[in-house]
Amino acid sequence: MIKQKRIALFGSTGSIGKQALEVIAANTDKFSVEILTAQTNDVLLVQQALQFNPNCVVIADERKYATVKEALAHTHVKVFAGEKALEEVAAMNCYDMMLAAIVGYAGLKPTLTAIQHNKAIALANKETLVVAGDIIMQEALKHKVPIIPVDSEHSAIFQCLIGETNNPIEKIILTASGGPFLGKKPNFLVNVKKEHALQHPNWSMGAKISIDSATLMNKGLEMIEAKWLFNLHASQIQVVIHPQSIIHSMVQFEDGSIKAQMGLPDMKLPIQYALGFPKRIPNQFPRFDFKKTSTLQFEEPDMRTFRNLALATEALYKGGNLPCVMNAANEIAVYAFLRNRIGFLDITEMIEQTMNKITFIEQPTLNEYFESDAEARNFAASLIQL
Ligand code: NAD
Ligand code: MG
Repeated sequence: MIKQKRIALFGSTGSIGKQALEVIAANTDKFSVEILTAQTNDVLLVQQALQFNPNCVVIADERKYATVKEALAHTHVKVFAGEKALEEVAAMNCYDMMLAAIVGYAGLKPTLTAIQHNKAIALANKETLVVAGDIIMQEALKHKVPIIPVDSEHSAIFQCLIGETNNPIEKIILTASGGPFLGKKPNFLVNVKKEHALQHPNWSMGAKISIDSATLMNKGLEMIEAKWLFNLHASQIQVVIHPQSIIHSMVQFEDGSIKAQMGLPDMKLPIQYALGFPKRIPNQFPRFDFKKTSTLQFEEPDMRTFRNLALATEALYKGGNLPCVMNAANEIAVYAFLRNRIGFLDITEMIEQTMNKITFIEQPTLNEYFESDAEARNFAASLIQL
């Protein structure tokens, strides 16, 4: 019997987390679950713990500790609570691979801790690389830790690069669905509400990434994610709108040859690929049928309307703490939009003003990243009152 890979699933109650558990449940000969973590959803966390019998669980919201502890009192599952506990369990030696599926900046510290404890990383949490990509990649190199992308575009590129170790990349082509507001103009966008923005045409995802997809910030974050994962210069990263989301991204090599990875849009596929790498695992997921799809379309992104993509391109080129600042302002703005505090177009305004306000640092230390994040959050939050 092959040894099971022991998985720590950070963010198990989210969209990626739940789909990862479906993949694991279908492959219990290959994977076991050792750690589950959630922010507030105690009910689902307990249910998952009872089903997968992990070594421990963390509920980040300390007010929920007693409920979780009591519900699991008759089991051997250890229960921890609080933000610090996320880092503490990330350092435990009961697991082999972390699936980093917490959303936002909150995923950074546990992921860094896992790397520093020589754990392989299946990375869904793109914000970790946006905030401190240089430090994360250096630490991964130092600890000889693989970072396998879960984001579908980066999984596509990763898969296209297999067998190409000695062949330089000319450029990568990141495909974007365009989100629910593809083709719309500012006079339409000014009035959109969260209910519209949360309706993604091709993917069902958590709230934050759904809004990021509607503003195209998601693609901006993904450009920066790609820069670090594949060691690219900003000028080697191109974004193309592809509304069908069948081509998940492409790599162009120095002879002009382009490799693409394709399939139906289903996150279970890149999740399963990252968990099982280097092996592909057979499954019964629906297959893409060329005979039923007559057109695959491509177009230039409208950066004048979706200015978040222009701001992210600026952050990508300038580097330093600017992507970190942009990410912090975006998180504040997106959650304000989700609480109906600001309009859709105000998201971009807040990000732009914050990027202009916070002092630029060319080569930040980890602490300077933390400080830039905090400063940017405070400033962005101060704009909401206006
Ligand atoms: P989600 O909102 O559905 O789930 C987030 C998870 O993180 C939950 O388990 C939640 O409890 C936990 N969490 C949130 N805030 C936390 C905090 N402060 N401390 C501790 N835990 C916290 O998000 P999602 O859609 O699953 O996305 C997760 C990550 O994966 C994001 O970085 C996203 O960009 C990336 N991603 C998601 C998809 C997708 O299809 N959903 C695709 C590609 C990449
Ligand atoms: Mg993606």
